[in-house]
Amino acid sequence: MKPKVLIATRSFGSTSQKPLEMLVEAGCEMLTADMSVEVTEDRLIDLLAGAVAAIIGVVPMTARVLENASGLKVVSAHGVGIDHIDLDAAFRLGITVTNCPGGSAPSVAELTIGLMIAVARSLPRAEKELKQGGWGRYRGGELGGKNLGLIGLGRIGQAVAKRAIGFEMNVLAYDPYLNTDRELLSGVQLDPLEEVIRAADFLSLHTPLTDATRNLIGWDELQAMKAEAVLINTARGGLVDERALFQALSTGQIAGAGLDVFVDEPPGDNPLLDLDNIVLTPHIGAHTTEAIERVGIMAVNNVIACLQGAEPAFRVR
Ligand code: NAD
Repeated sequence: MKPKVLIATRSFGSTSQKPLEMLVEAGCEMLTADMSVEVTEDRLIDLLAGAVAAIIGVVPMTARVLENASGLKVVSAHGVGIDHIDLDAAFRLGITVTNCPGGSAPSVAELTIGLMIAVARSLPRAEKELKQGGWGRYRGGELGGKNLGLIGLGRIGQAVAKRAIGFEMNVLAYDPYLNTDRELLSGVQLDPLEEVIRAADFLSLHTPLTDATRNLIGWDELQAMKAEAVLINTARGGLVDERALFQALSTGQIAGAGLDVFVDEPPGDNPLLDLDNIVLTPHIGAHTTEAIERVGIMAVNNVIACLQGAEPAFRVR
């Protein structure tokens, strides 16, 4: 009997047939979930029936789901973030969890720079007004010469740093777990968190969402930022206290924000949507033709390795 692989992500294989072909060549049968219907815990349990592997986007891979997936051997995250997977439960149940580090880093980094420019030059407002017959001459600011503060200097943080250096920005970063054996990107200065927050003209978040990083940016941190500073978050919504951010943006405590991620996605009636000094995108950091193909191939390679009893290239746990 062919091993069944649940596909529970919208983007897998959507820009290239290669990942799908690889699964077929490896003798797997694909069970493709209809992602237009919400994937609740109960639905995920049903979808996982008979599956030995699952390639997943941001779906609730909770302890209850994993405990009810009796044949499941591998959960292959189609991306980097794994905050929606209960790692302790997976470990306890002997289920391997893998992800795709670096696969989307160029795409997320480019969106990060794009959001910085979009906020600094009021691009969405300028375009909207122009299309309505206006000719508002918005005055913006340059990135060049400004301080970019990065929190998290992993794959995406470093990709952002490289691009920001190209824009002649001064890059400061905070990352307490950085492997200092590795050569640090030249032009990036490591500083304590408080200093990065205080000095940044643009503060950009690139850490995973964990218990330690939840609400990393709250009211105290926003108060410590410059009044002309811009906060960019292309990592995870939970890193920022959204109520504090709303207050900071509406009172001029900080100048603007660019967000690709939200605590609740989609954000529904989140009051941040009503502000003018914010640019928002619907969690599209990794949604490029190139990244979707790269990540798809990595996710499939992880599954195939596990099913063949080999060590996957990107085991999380
Ligand atoms: P990575 O593991 O390469 O880097 C994360 C870095 O954060 C590491 O260097 C780590 O040491 C650092 N870090 C951990 N805790 C920290 C803390 N408390 N303070 C400062 N630094 C800390 O991961 P990555 O590939 O760079 O991805 C980062 C995050 O971006 C992912 O976890 C994911 O949530 C998010 N992401 C979002 C999108 C999107 O579509 N918007 C796409 C890919 C990834």
